[in-house]
Parts: sequence; C-alpha cells; structure tokens
Amino acid sequence: MGALLGRGGMCICVDCHWVERCQAYHAVERQHGVAHLTMRPDFSPRQPRIHVQVLDLDDAVASVGVEWDVRACSDFRPDPGRWRRWCPDGPLPT
Ligand code: SF4
Repeated sequence: MGALLGRGGMCICVDCHWVERCQAYHAVERQHGVAHLTMRPDFSPRQPRIHVQVLDLDDAVASVGVEWDVRACSDFRPDPGRWRRWCPDGPLPT
C-alpha cells in the first residue's frame, strides 16, 4: 500500500474541491486500500493523469508495492486542505 500524500510527488486531489465526489480519486483510494470518502462518487473528471510508481517494500521477502497519485487533471479546482477537512482526525493514509 502506498501513500495518498506522496513522498516526492504528491496527489493533487487532497487540495481539490472535487475530492469527496470524484470518481478518479475514488479509484485511487481503492488502489491504496483506504476508506472511501464516499461510496457513490458522482463527479467524472476530465483527463486525470495518474502517476503509477512501483516501489520496493522493506521486508524480508523481496516484494514491490504500487503507488498511485494524480499529478495533473483538467478539472483540478484549488481548495487547499479539503481532504483534511473531510478527515480532521484521521491519520494520513500510508
Ligand atoms: S484533481 Fe481531478 S482527479 Fe483529483 S479530485 Fe480533483 S477533479 Fe478529481
């Protein structure tokens, strides 16, 4: 499982007005195995560009994880801290 708030890169959705309604972010949540902000996202973004990174995991058995982050999107609408306002007490998903 990777981080929604990326190391190095960053998922821009956490600061987007549409995050709790967005179908692309919903898919990113599913890939990360974290709880969904909503079970019925009703917003379909135009041209989200999802960055997929394969990572070596730190464990005894050689294995890899996959991290998904949205890095660009035609419908990005800045709303700094929106994800955090939806999850004020939740740990940052990692
Ligand atoms: S940046 Fe795009 S993909 Fe991410 S929440 Fe906003 S509209 Fe959805």
